[in-house]
Amino acid sequence: MRVAVFIDFDDTLFLTSQVSEYFIIQTGKFENVPIHIREFFYSMDKLISSFFLKHIGLCRFRIMTHASSQWIYEALKFMPTILKFVDWNYICVIFCEKQSKSNKVIELIAKEASYDIYVAMGDSESDLQVVDAIVPIMKNCRPKYRQIRFIQKPNLDLFRAEWEQLQCLFLEILQSPHELLLRYFQMFNPFLSGTLTPIPEI
Ligand SMILES: [Mg+2]
Repeated sequence: MRVAVFIDFDDTLFLTSQVSEYFIIQTGKFENVPIHIREFFYSMDKLISSFFLKHIGLCRFRIMTHASSQWIYEALKFMPTILKFVDWNYICVIFCEKQSKSNKVIELIAKEASYDIYVAMGDSESDLQVVDAIVPIMKNCRPKYRQIRFIQKPNLDLFRAEWEQLQCLFLEILQSPHELLLRYFQMFNPFLSGTLTPIPEI
């Protein structure tokens, strides 16, 4: 089985909304970030990197972002293991710049053999729509699609809970018994049950 995973960066992989106030535009660096936030990122680095390692044999992970490379690399200094994965090309960062994420993904997959499952993870509708955009051009291969929605502007506890849940449920999401349906919507909220809610084919 081959799985392509497209991950948003801000408030999905990196808890931007809790740290952006410490980013100084003039210097292009974070300054005076409280120790508890630094420690939080350090613990998230361990959690998220273990998620990647666990699934790297199955999945091709790509970070899709409209952010600048300066922002991404400064942010990843808080998460040194993930930064190493990016440096070693275990995980690619795809800079979409002015292009929509959907168009960028279509451009990427046009150059590749098809995958069995396409997964989009993100906190905004446009992050998730990348798999919708693939559906019409994958008609003949009939892959499966998954969307994993993250909470917008989460606090530290919610962000950690999302990744803890994802760590436990990721394979279940991929292998759910509803696989004959074309499309799923996973409302990924730690206050919900975490079960899959299929929606009808569109
Ligand atoms: Mg985001």
